[in-house]
Amino acid sequence: MESAAHRLAQVESRILHACGIAGRPRRDVELIAVSKTHDAPEILPLLEAGQRVFGENRVQEAQGKWPQLRESFPDVALHLVGQLQSNKAEEAVALFDAIHSLDRPSLVKALAKAMDKAGRRVPLFVQVNIGAEEQKGGCAIAELPALLDQARAADLPLAGLMCVPPLDVEPAPFFALLDKLAGDHGLAGRSMGMSGDYETAIMLGATHVRVGTALFGDRG
Ligand SMILES: *Cc1c(COP(=O)(O)O)cnc(C)c1O
Repeated sequence: MESAAHRLAQVESRILHACGIAGRPRRDVELIAVSKTHDAPEILPLLEAGQRVFGENRVQEAQGKWPQLRESFPDVALHLVGQLQSNKAEEAVALFDAIHSLDRPSLVKALAKAMDKAGRRVPLFVQVNIGAEEQKGGCAIAELPALLDQARAADLPLAGLMCVPPLDVEPAPFFALLDKLAGDHGLAGRSMGMSGDYETAIMLGATHVRVGTALFGDRG
């Protein structure tokens, strides 16, 4: 089996290559190592190899492993990349440094309240249901302007838009659409691209790529 350090170096070199083709500086793209389902012994080698930005999709799972890892690596940044229930907003604001799944008005309210209470502002990405899929999280494209207005009215720190394109379809048109929507709404961040398509996403403007399998191997 390849080492975590080796996999990280491979992903890094592909990111660098994609940035080069797109004429973008490497620093414009944040690599989020999605460590969901993986435990501390699997995460440690990546920390030791220098990776500092990680993603989790469940508040509870993240609470179970990150406080302890952070004692040894206090400069870690944690991103929530999974659905967030309103009743977990306070815990999410306490633990995470960015949240990629703002997708409905009730969450605007819950996050505004949680941030006021904690005195802590956590950058937010609005998740867009970019392929108009019925079972998928994310705000409908038609509802995006209203949701952004609500978030701005609540003075939430908006970092950008996030999407997970439909499975088994060419993702590029969906990345291009998210890039356009972000531009139309004056948002700098584009959280898009996973293990199978992060290079494509970078060429289409991704500022945050969320990579799990390519760094950790398959999830059991
Ligand atoms: C699991 C997950 C990822 C990482 O997916 P890989 O294909 O393993 O790279 C990225 N984004 C979200 C929202 C996820 O849930």
